[in-house]
Amino acid sequence: AIELVDICKSFGVVEVLKGVSATVARGETVCLIGASGSGKSTLLRCVNLLSPPTSGTIRLHGQTITDPKVDLNAVRSRTGMVFQHFNLFQHKSAVDNIALALRRVRRMSREEARERALQQLDKVGLRALASARPSHLSGGQQQRVAIARSLAMEPDIMLFDEATSALDPELVKGVLDVMRDLATASGMTMMVVTHEMNFAREVADRVLFVDSGVIAEEGPARQLLTDPRTPRLKSFLSQVL
Ligand code: ATP
Ligand code: MG
Repeated sequence: AIELVDICKSFGVVEVLKGVSATVARGETVCLIGASGSGKSTLLRCVNLLSPPTSGTIRLHGQTITDPKVDLNAVRSRTGMVFQHFNLFQHKSAVDNIALALRRVRRMSREEARERALQQLDKVGLRALASARPSHLSGGQQQRVAIARSLAMEPDIMLFDEATSALDPELVKGVLDVMRDLATASGMTMMVVTHEMNFAREVADRVLFVDSGVIAEEGPARQLLTDPRTPRLKSFLSQVL
């Protein structure tokens, strides 16, 4: 589970997160929605300590990762994160992008890393394109390689920050399908920042509405999206749906 207790995050004098508490159960998928600048990315970056909170407690599967003694690299390697821009090595093939990460982080042999990388590409439907360089892949395929690279590390938590926002509309579905499969078939524990309300409705167990650095509303996806209680969420949904 991911447990967030009273998370605050400031940049200088700007208070971005103002006391966020939330729990994501093991195997649960929670979508974060909210207006631009509300703090969704900041919250996600707190969860894997890419940008640690100013105060508050975070526990991942029982381990308090906001403890100063915690091993940052260990925390980050159990927490996969996929961003809007996927940062693949452009001069390396799809399989090498993944294998390289495995060799560096997991200290795997060349053969072992390649084998694992091919298995992961298979899972995202890209085994046939293993030798292609990113420039020969569509944006959606590149994003699936990035997801495969994250999954190859065997994280127990996956964080997605607008993984489909930079993609052409016709490429979005392939990536969402991979995420959906991960949430349902693999039972991954996931936090997903998204503007894809249909994905949230169909895949999320719960949805959190982030507004000005707090969770202003939360509930089961269908209920929250079809029957918002607060005027803020009503107004947000009327703009995005
Ligand atoms: P979007 O939907 O546009 O991605 P968001 O909800 O992800 O928005 P954040 O990126 O978390 O929003 O940003 C929340 C606020 O925190 C913004 O006002 C932003 O300017 C501020 N902020 C984020 N990162 C930093 C930083 N490193 N330094 C200063 N301010 C920051
Ligand atoms: Mg963001």
